[in-house]
Amino acid sequence: MSTTWHVLGAGSLGTLWATRLARAGLPVRLVLRNDARLQAYRNAGGLTLVEQGQAQCYPIPGETADSPEPIKRLLLACKAYDAEAAVSSVAHRLGDESELILLQNGLGSQDAVANCMPQARCISASSTEGAFRDGDWRVVFAGHGYTWLGDPAHPVAPFWLDDLAAAGIPHAWSADILTRLWRKLALNCAINPLTVLHHCKNGGLQEHRCEVATLCAELTDLLERCGQPAAAEDLQPEVERVIQATAANYSSMYQDVSNRRRTEISYLLGYACKVAQRHELTVPHLEQLRQRLIVHLHNLGLPSD
Ligand code: NAP
Repeated sequence: MSTTWHVLGAGSLGTLWATRLARAGLPVRLVLRNDARLQAYRNAGGLTLVEQGQAQCYPIPGETADSPEPIKRLLLACKAYDAEAAVSSVAHRLGDESELILLQNGLGSQDAVANCMPQARCISASSTEGAFRDGDWRVVFAGHGYTWLGDPAHPVAPFWLDDLAAAGIPHAWSADILTRLWRKLALNCAINPLTVLHHCKNGGLQEHRCEVATLCAELTDLLERCGQPAAAEDLQPEVERVIQATAANYSSMYQDVSNRRRTEISYLLGYACKVAQRHELTVPHLEQLRQRLIVHLHNLGLPSD
């Protein structure tokens, strides 16, 4: 009998994973915040995945964090700023043999979770898949991509990667997951805050080449200083390539702001600035960008942490 996938967070990525795992016949349970959310979920009858315009509902069983059953495999699919509290809510169900798969973008939340759950194995993920919610318990699969998984503390791949293959989730085990997370963070820092401040699509940054180049130079120094030279390699040309290839897209931070949602700034640009400070590296342009973004969020009445 396969181990149950407990999916905590029935948002975009959580639903994308839960529905594909369930479709492959694997045991999946959704862990919801409270009885009210559980009742709302039960009333909806399941999670709906919309793929190429076709909607399919999957009646995945739901439960609250309070349920007593132990959790052996937990897919943590909330935002970075909710990760620690979300894991703490199921701490009583986790043991020595539990494995946590952390889908959070950026850096900082993975360490926070690992520190509060030292007994569990924590596997970090970095994904280029894209999904968004177009209703409660409904998710649109918007962009095919790839997910890298890895465990900096323990390089051996877990056997349950077979489940991902069965579910058609494109993935690879990565021996250098930290490099991937740092590289993605750097790309994000060079692009996303500027799209918010200049109120533009990614392609709009082609008008701000100098500003982007200055940020890339500081990010490259930072990655080298904090022991991530591979993540620093050719950063600026890649940032330019991404800006061109995604010219018509709005960045995730832009979308969060325009939908008046909290951003993950503290786990992206905020994390970069904090690490620079720890290494006594001055990054004036990144720091100024962070300050400008905080003021902007504050003026909009949005959380700036
Ligand atoms: P999302 O749609 O906002 O979903 C997060 C879900 O977590 C929400 O359903 C939220 O519940 C739930 N949650 C938070 N705290 C909880 C708790 N204590 N107990 C139970 N549920 C809890 O977020 P997302 O877009 O899937 O993003 C998740 C992570 O993946 C982020 O770090 C994001 O940057 C990253 N990511 C996303 C994408 C994408 O395309 N969406 C792509 C790559 C990476 P409520 O609805 O009740 O608030």
